[in-house]
Amino acid sequence: MKKYGALDRFRLIAALLVVSVHTSPLAGVSPIADFVLTRAVARLAVPFFMTVTGFFVLPELLYGDGKNCGRLAASLKKTGLIYLISVILYLPLGLYAGHYNGITPLKALKMLIFDGAFYHLWYLPAVMLGLSLIWLLSRFMRPGAIFAAAIFLYIVGLGGDSYYGLITLTPLGGIYGAIFAFSSYTRIFMAPLFLMMGAAAAKMKTVKKPLPLFVDLFAAMTAEALVLRSLDVQRHDSMYIFLPPCLWFLFQLLLGMDVKPLPCLRSASMVIYIVHPAAIVAVRLAAELTGLETLLVENALVHYLAVCALSGIAAVIWLLAEKRPDPPGRSRIELDAGALAHNVEALRERLPDGCLLMPVVKADAYGHGAVPISKELNRLGIRAFAVATVEEGARLRRGGIRGDILILGYTPPRQIGLVRRYRLIQTVTDLDYARELNALGRKVRVHLAVDTGMNRLGERADSENIFEMFGLKHLKIEGVFTHLCADDRPETKFADFTAGQTERFARLCDELEKRKIKVKKHILNSYGLFRYPEIGGDYARVGIALYGVLSDGPTTAELAADLKPVLTFRADIAQVKTVLPGENVGYGLGFTAERVMEVAVVAAGYADGVPRALSGRGEVLIKGRRAPMVGLICMDQFMVDVTGMDVRAGDSAVIIGSDGEERITACELADKCGTVANEIFSRLGSRPERRIVRGGKNWEKGFCDTDRA
Ligand SMILES: *Cc1c(COP(=O)(O)O)cnc(C)c1O
Repeated sequence: MKKYGALDRFRLIAALLVVSVHTSPLAGVSPIADFVLTRAVARLAVPFFMTVTGFFVLPELLYGDGKNCGRLAASLKKTGLIYLISVILYLPLGLYAGHYNGITPLKALKMLIFDGAFYHLWYLPAVMLGLSLIWLLSRFMRPGAIFAAAIFLYIVGLGGDSYYGLITLTPLGGIYGAIFAFSSYTRIFMAPLFLMMGAAAAKMKTVKKPLPLFVDLFAAMTAEALVLRSLDVQRHDSMYIFLPPCLWFLFQLLLGMDVKPLPCLRSASMVIYIVHPAAIVAVRLAAELTGLETLLVENALVHYLAVCALSGIAAVIWLLAEKRPDPPGRSRIELDAGALAHNVEALRERLPDGCLLMPVVKADAYGHGAVPISKELNRLGIRAFAVATVEEGARLRRGGIRGDILILGYTPPRQIGLVRRYRLIQTVTDLDYARELNALGRKVRVHLAVDTGMNRLGERADSENIFEMFGLKHLKIEGVFTHLCADDRPETKFADFTAGQTERFARLCDELEKRKIKVKKHILNSYGLFRYPEIGGDYARVGIALYGVLSDGPTTAELAADLKPVLTFRADIAQVKTVLPGENVGYGLGFTAERVMEVAVVAAGYADGVPRALSGRGEVLIKGRRAPMVGLICMDQFMVDVTGMDVRAGDSAVIIGSDGEERITACELADKCGTVANEIFSRLGSRPERRIVRGGKNWEKGFCDTDRA
């Protein structure tokens, strides 16, 4: 966390440097001072922003497994949006300044894609082009090769920028004519290199003692700039040979600084970057209107400071208006992104060859929150999901989840329109149902459920009806699956039953092969993957294990040993009171005190998902210690005994999760209530808000995403 603090601060400096490029604050001091500031120091700013983007966006694409491009897509979307807003913002100014005189559609396109629609905005399309190029290359090149390609592009860029005068002396000069037909400058060629440098910085150990190297390289770069200037060979002056190495050590210097993050500077620097040209116009206008031109415009330093101040005011207004996540409610569920990633990794290691994870996120991801959990899974490269109902599938799509979504349960034929609209895959239960869907006359993607002994959904594995369904022309049958129902227990009786199920399914699969029917086949659930991974299949439909537990504690604790619970369910303590001997607590005179007690009222009840069956047996964790529940659990509160524990209103109680050394698992609750963890989870109410937390921090301290359920 800490290493980003200096990056945050330098963002602000970089934004102010960009302003200096457009205002030349030292022009009044000396031309050389102005040149060094705006053509050397300030030339670090834009490459710095690009490196930061690469640092945060590219590692998961280049070094993560599954070439996941979730962050890249999000970054493209965000940059595109900022660009769009800026283009619209500067449209009137551009018109006024005559930027669009004699414009043709082709010129407009060139301006929009390569030049940046307003002169300083080129950075935004350059980053988008650079990211897209790297994404494209990552399909078939290793990071090292992409880096080499980026260096090559940088050299091409140099030739059209500060070394152009030298290039025109060689036969290569003509090539640049062609480049300039597309883009007025070659500075966009710098984006891939700086983006890749960011990715490399994230992957590598930080360099020790980068300061002297940075200083030397900066001196070399300044000398390079001055020499090129005296030779008068520059066509533009934003790229130097010494710029990338110089920036590398600057970046290392910043990464090595141990300062607190200041996230507000991220948007502040972006706002300054976007609005400062408007601020320049405003300052000039104000000077004209007040007759203060000598002070506000002709004095370059004052002019610069006025523009910075005005842009700064815009940034402050933006920050004040920016939407912050609402403060956490009285009962809440934290989802540990690290634990989820750990479980996905642990489960992937168990997958047999050729088998993919199909996380089961039915029942609101077992009460965890289907949208935040699935978003996180998308980021981890997951591309197939299973739900139980069409509404659950639709909710994922509306939440922006990508990939296949299989509905495992029954959907009435009257709702098939929804299955199609949300690009879902429906399970077919039997031939009659299949015919009904087919009769609707619209293509539907489906998997066939096959019954191998559970006697739940599906045609029997040996039924001819299965093959008849393949003849229905509106059904696009993409898969066949069955469900194991006795794989959770190790005893022989259960193992034999599972072997029977597996054999019946395998026979069906053989028969399909014989008839040259190619479909996906899947059978494993959580226990199946743990106990019988050799069964294989194209997917493992893993539910409960993904959330870091198995259904019940005693028989399976050892299987789940390498999983981490994802969920923490906690609630505030509303009030603490003293109860005297002989007094009662809660409904129905359910508890009578025998001694003087301190009782805390916890602000969650069975409507929040605290099972009423826990009354008198459950415990919560407060300040790392167990406190027993007393009396009957109410709809909105329950009471715990905190005698001698120094508990106050406003403290929080953990109902499921860990606190210090202590942990209460969903399995512990399940055992006390005579059920399975699956039921405890899936009955968590809609009242507690769900949020993803990262880096082991907790929600109270504000380290959380704005992703919500
Ligand atoms: C719920 C369900 C699963 C997931 O089961 P877990 O035991 O939670 O892994 C898999 N397949 C089907 C058909 C299901 O209904």
